[in-house]
Amino acid sequence: MFTSIAGRAVVVTGGTRGIGKGIAAVFARSGARVLVTGRDQAVGEQAAAEIPGEAHFVAADVARRADCDRIAATALELFGGIDVVCANAGIFPGARMDEMTEDMLNLVLDVNLKGTFFTVQACLPALKESGHGRVILTSSITGPITGFPGWTAYGASKAGQLGYLRTAAIELASSGITVNAVLPGNIATEGLGDLGANYTSQMTEAIPMRKLGTVDDIGYAALFFATDEAGYITGQTIVIDGGQVLPESPEAAG
Ligand code: NAP
Repeated sequence: MFTSIAGRAVVVTGGTRGIGKGIAAVFARSGARVLVTGRDQAVGEQAAAEIPGEAHFVAADVARRADCDRIAATALELFGGIDVVCANAGIFPGARMDEMTEDMLNLVLDVNLKGTFFTVQACLPALKESGHGRVILTSSITGPITGFPGWTAYGASKAGQLGYLRTAAIELASSGITVNAVLPGNIATEGLGDLGANYTSQMTEAIPMRKLGTVDDIGYAALFFATDEAGYITGQTIVIDGGQVLPESPEAAG
């Protein structure tokens, strides 16, 4: 049996839809107090109302350091502390290298990589106070394990998160803070849906379990990293992909 995380203060960036909303809902259903963030005010307020249990919203762009400072300040105001930070906000616009503009490259790295850094940095004093601080990054199989045409910048940002994670885990170990990452495969979200039906059916074919993952699948893995029982695990990753990275060829996917 795992110790309850009821009452713990949890921040989930990009928690207004997709995987982040799923993570926030899993934590809230477990009795945690949740603050979700995103840029769209109306979508964010709606999401906080839909998440079962205690959920709040603050509008913030993780690519801006000042916004991340505001996320931490809001959590402190609401909860009096921060126990868990899920740095989940991310974007995945596609562009092959020959059409990749500097602006697009900067945007992906700013949101996915610098956003991770700014979010954790802003919450760090509160995480140290917590005594059982947890940082959980949403990386991806794309970049750390696999590749996909059009996602050089995205893959670099997601692999970059893991480079960040390993040193952050060492820096924060003596403060009792663990830093781990979930690596989703293809998960049914609004963002994934934007890639089109062709993409999702092609991906479903490549997954041995023959189905996309759900946002709850990612939420439960994140919840495990947040428990007291996972307190000796740091700098690690868990792949949640229905077996997608395993086949050596399309035929091997079964
Ligand atoms: P999604 O459905 O597009 O949701 C993205 C969330 O992030 C929204 O809440 C969005 O809200 C927020 N967001 C986007 N840019 C932001 C910014 N600059 N600042 C703050 N919030 C921002 O995406 P998803 O599919 O759930 O993906 C979430 C994370 O999982 C990403 O890091 C992605 O790389 C990773 N991932 C997803 C999959 C998948 O199959 N879905 C697979 C591997 C990894 P606003 O637009 O209102 O800001």
